[in-house]
Amino acid sequence: MPQSRDTVLEIDLGALAHNYRFLRDRLRPETRFLGVVKAYGYGSDSLAIALKLEALGADYLAVAFTDEGTFLREGGVRLPILVLHPQPSGLDDLITHRLEPALYSLRILKMFLETARRREARGFPVHLKFNTGLNRLGFWENDVEWIAGQLEGESSLTIRSAFSHLAASDDPGSNTFTQRQIKSFAAIVADIREQLPGTPFFHLLNTSGILNFPDAQWDMVRSGIGLYGYGNDPEVDPLLRPVARLRTRISQLHKIEPGEWVGYNKGYRAADFRTTATLPIGHADGIGRIYGKEHGAFHVRGKRAPIIGNVCMDMTMIDVTGIPCKEGDEVVVFGNGHSAEDLARGAGTISYELLTGISRRVAREIL
Ligand code: PLP
Repeated sequence: MPQSRDTVLEIDLGALAHNYRFLRDRLRPETRFLGVVKAYGYGSDSLAIALKLEALGADYLAVAFTDEGTFLREGGVRLPILVLHPQPSGLDDLITHRLEPALYSLRILKMFLETARRREARGFPVHLKFNTGLNRLGFWENDVEWIAGQLEGESSLTIRSAFSHLAASDDPGSNTFTQRQIKSFAAIVADIREQLPGTPFFHLLNTSGILNFPDAQWDMVRSGIGLYGYGNDPEVDPLLRPVARLRTRISQLHKIEPGEWVGYNKGYRAADFRTTATLPIGHADGIGRIYGKEHGAFHVRGKRAPIIGNVCMDMTMIDVTGIPCKEGDEVVVFGNGHSAEDLARGAGTISYELLTGISRRVAREIL
């Protein structure tokens, strides 16, 4: 979409390279690195991110859904792409675009096997996903025997890897739980080595897993949020660089008198004389009403400017009383010293949700 507004999401590929190297340096040299680029590269720009990761030497990419992978292939991405949650309706597309599905259930395995046979695939790469405690998606350990039976002598598919996903690797209070997940995965790896010999590699860790449980890196890690500059860890966060910076500009300044209301449904009432700034960004851009309700703030000239009233669809009002600013001045919503994690946490959510929620109508500027 052509850029015609002052609201822009800057994507800093230099920051991505820094974060990639930071995470890579924590791994054994032979460990493969998968960059998670689902949800449009965590809300940034999946194609630019994917191409940069390819250039940086990443081994794999992952998306959630098949169409996300198709988009990357059509953009010229050549790295292997793991599709974490393929849907029955897109199984043919997986083969057409050489996208490697995570097979997570008896149903999806059977359906993909039928598709691969019909398409006369030969050794098409697939990955087996196991549940070790997240209880979201995946086979159970005792499914290994059934899977081995289904795939015995099968030439259309090749198992490329087996993996699982940690539920709480960022939470020190859940270390025992995470260790249990690691143990369950180790048992699955042992079963697979016995019943599906030749499975080339295994992987478990996400970003917080890399930081907190590096001994469990097996043969590959899958990092998302860390690549985008957030480590879910106050000690690590300052060492990473946010990839996305959301900026906008002041459309109009208002002088408000004591007792006046601001915004829909009289969301804010001025107790004294205030100066407010109206910005061309709203909940349709991904800044939900919750950011106003929970004392969220943006930054003008490095100073905190609280959101006031109800965030509108296309506009937000902030309080700039005492901040020397004028119409047209830049406002930082998040990024570069104003962490998306802090803004998100203040509203009771997480950086993942804030970042992936920035809508398509916000122009992306690749730096
Ligand atoms: N692996 C899987 C299966 C995921 O669903 C995700 C993200 O949700 C990741 C890896 C990356 O996790 P993170 O962004 O915490 O690094």
